[in-house]
Amino acid sequence: MKEIILLKNGEMALKGLNRGSFEDVLIRNLKRRLKSIGEFRFSRAQSTVMIEGADEGADLREAAAQIGKVFGVAAYSVAGVCEKDLAVIKETAARYLEKELLAAKTFRVSAKRSDKRFPYTSPQICEEVGGYLLDRYPHLSVDLHTPDLNVMVEVRDFGAYIHGPQQAGPGGLPVGTSGRALLLLSGGIDSPVAGYMMAKRGLSLNALHFASPPYTGERAKQKVIDLAQILAQYCGHITLNVVHFTEIQEAIGDHCPEELYTIIMRRFMMRIACRLAESIECGGLVTGESLAQVASQTLGALRCTEAVCTLPVLRPLIGMDKEEIIRISRQIGAFETSTLPYEDCCTVFTPRHPRTRPELARVEAAEANLDVEGLTARALERIERIRNTL
Ligand code: ATP
Ligand code: MG
Repeated sequence: MKEIILLKNGEMALKGLNRGSFEDVLIRNLKRRLKSIGEFRFSRAQSTVMIEGADEGADLREAAAQIGKVFGVAAYSVAGVCEKDLAVIKETAARYLEKELLAAKTFRVSAKRSDKRFPYTSPQICEEVGGYLLDRYPHLSVDLHTPDLNVMVEVRDFGAYIHGPQQAGPGGLPVGTSGRALLLLSGGIDSPVAGYMMAKRGLSLNALHFASPPYTGERAKQKVIDLAQILAQYCGHITLNVVHFTEIQEAIGDHCPEELYTIIMRRFMMRIACRLAESIECGGLVTGESLAQVASQTLGALRCTEAVCTLPVLRPLIGMDKEEIIRISRQIGAFETSTLPYEDCCTVFTPRHPRTRPELARVEAAEANLDVEGLTARALERIERIRNTL
């Protein structure tokens, strides 16, 4: 039987006049995602996007699995397609959902008629199809409120579609509709989750990683490349910019008090990130900071790092517990990679007693011992750019 994917796009429906352009971006993202699976045809009507296979090889089930990772998709279902004729609809419902109907004890039929020329109203469709299914499957009874199976019949312009329950999509907004930001991507648990969450709000991402060779090695870098690749399943292409941070860390280590070491290092990260972001047209930064998780994430420490920023810093994890963050990390398939035990540039030079309440004036005085501009400019001069595949 011919099948189709019906996809509901949720929050976008609220965007009024912008809806068309939101849908354009969603469809572009879907096409990109499904390109490697086969040829598909896309059409849309009444906040529903319809996806059909355009050649034999196009596997609709595999496409549906991919669609579950595309932001902007509120819900989707794979539906059986048939002619807009009541007798055919009945027969199709009985055959297409046979397995589900046999497994259920109770059911109901819901109908949606967007083709108003179809000669039966929605309640009539429900009654007719429901009666037919009761005859065909006498073990069933009707339960309108909490049925085991909801048989959906949608009568639209180009056909009738029959399906069981919808799958929940990831929700959010299509990546790219909120502009672009630069994700500070470490090899840890938090920053990939932060990137995922902001992509869900429609941001497309570039990433920036600070590496400190020879203190950090190839495997540590590969881990970050792998994390960017995992994120790309949800966020689309991410160009990963790797900046060498060793010279800066050594200069701080040589010239600044140990207790301010981390905060000064983080200020360098933010300066470099803002400059890079502006040069590649990113409108903000994204970090995995969470309030009070470590010494450099207290309110006072955030004030010190933010003082050097020229762009908004988005911190979607700021109010989350580690447990909640880990749950998302597992859900997006990043946790295993994030917890591989390779060294990170921050752990290489960790002070014994970092200051949890750094005063901005002292931090600035300590930085006066460094050639801040020269160090920043040199770090930005030789950036390695790694593009992931999708
Ligand atoms: P994560 O789990 O993301 O590494 P964390 O809890 O280890 O976070 P920090 O090391 O203080 O916290 O880093 C806070 C944020 O700063 C990170 O979430 C990330 O956005 C950014 N960051 C830290 N180290 C790096 C790095 N080497 N390269 C790029 N960004 C980094
Ligand atoms: Mg870290």
